[in-house]
Amino acid sequence: MARVRKKGRSPIVCPRCDVNLWLQHIKHFGPVVEIDVCRQCGGTWYDRGELAIKIPDSHMRERLTNFPKVGEESPISCPRCGGMMRLRHEGEVEVDFCTECQGVWLDLGEDEALKYKAEWDKHTEEEEHVRVPAIIAALGDEFI
Ligand SMILES: [Zn+2]
Ligand SMILES: [Zn+2]
Repeated sequence: MARVRKKGRSPIVCPRCDVNLWLQHIKHFGPVVEIDVCRQCGGTWYDRGELAIKIPDSHMRERLTNFPKVGEESPISCPRCGGMMRLRHEGEVEVDFCTECQGVWLDLGEDEALKYKAEWDKHTEEEEHVRVPAIIAALGDEFI
């Protein structure tokens, strides 16, 4: 893996371990996308728009990138712009996001956890669609 800089950008430092992040090249529907990964803690920084590489579910992505200006403050500051970061809870996962540049920091394994949760949410949603009409049908005889 080459230590290449993103065009026009200086390398950024891991908000957890204070070491330079490495650029990881990911091929994503044609163009190669570079994400910043920490080799020490395994955390990853996603600049605005880059999250689509790891979170294919658009509902989950919309939730994660709908950045509220208020909320719980994150203990880390943005590695890209130094802006204030806030926390968003997605099930067990705490997502750190920057209110200024709209980047997202995910600790090791959190991308997988979010992907899993997106699948799970979709699954339970589908189940409800099936269950609710069934309940209405069951109640129908008594209430109509
Ligand atoms: Zn780190
Ligand atoms: Zn930022």
